[in-house]
Amino acid sequence: MKNILEIRNLQTEFSTEQGAVQAVRGVSITLGEKEVLGIVGESGSGKSQTMFSVMGLLSANGKITSGEILLNGEDISPLAFTSEKEYEKRMEKLRGNDMAMIFQDPMTFLNPVLRIDTQLMEPILNHTNLSKEEARKQAIELMRKVGIPSPESRMKQYPHQFSGGMRQRIIIAMALACNPQVIIADEPTTALDVTIQAQVLDLISNLKHEINSSIIMITHDLGVVASICDRIAIMYGGKIVEVGTDEDIFYDPKHPYTIGLLSCVHNPEEESKELKPIPGSPPDLLDPPKGCPFVDRCEKAMKICKEQMPSVSVFSNTHECSCWLHHEMALKGGDVK
Ligand code: SF4
Ligand code: MG
Repeated sequence: MKNILEIRNLQTEFSTEQGAVQAVRGVSITLGEKEVLGIVGESGSGKSQTMFSVMGLLSANGKITSGEILLNGEDISPLAFTSEKEYEKRMEKLRGNDMAMIFQDPMTFLNPVLRIDTQLMEPILNHTNLSKEEARKQAIELMRKVGIPSPESRMKQYPHQFSGGMRQRIIIAMALACNPQVIIADEPTTALDVTIQAQVLDLISNLKHEINSSIIMITHDLGVVASICDRIAIMYGGKIVEVGTDEDIFYDPKHPYTIGLLSCVHNPEEESKELKPIPGSPPDLLDPPKGCPFVDRCEKAMKICKEQMPSVSVFSNTHECSCWLHHEMALKGGDVK
């Protein structure tokens, strides 16, 4: 499979009054053609900041300090440009056209005082040579594609005239407008109630067979990615701690944090099963632990875990995990150190 996006050893920091927060600490991941990749972790794990780094949407106090972000082989990290102006120019071309983002809360993205047709036609008019009439036709087609009933009659309405679920469908339509190579969805269903959540997930799941884009789904809920993603990366403390196919992650999880997350997933077949949140809180990224980021919450922690960052164990060509438990010494029953 051809890689559309390849992130190599990305590090992103935020300067704060207390010091530099190391939000993304050496993340490497690939996204293949037409692949759906889930990035899962608690809030503060660095998953959104990794993607904001890719999109060039970090807040003013954030900056990429090292690494590469290859889109079809071209490095689009700000570090690869001679000036911030050059970088911004390139990103403006890419955003909406080659890469689009779907945000958690549609209302922060839709302009409340502009009609839906204006907002939906804008990316089409900006990035293609279509006439206004053709753009309107395409906008109506997109509304139909994302399941908005009688789109012709709703084109002239304003965002507040749509329900939350319908607004999220409009955002998805806007992201699809220019056939981007990469769509990044940041917690696209979190702000919606459960039934609507399921409908929007169904929509994304159906769309993945119809469109040519590769999709990254960011979520704190492993249950959300279960039915949609081909591959899943688990993030913790600014790092990817495990990556694998959906089967690797759900049927053969290796990292104690992944195992913990799985016990928080609601299984409709086991109504009575109690969900077990993982006790403790994520590490302080102002002063990240020297060793494994999960050490303070891990029931299996060993001496070495506090002292050294775990090396990567490779289980198959799809499945990797960073945990000392899978180091060959620990597997032989000896203490790792
Ligand atoms: Fe737990 Fe150690 Fe593995 Fe980290 S490296 S997850 S602390 S066993
Ligand atoms: Mg987030």
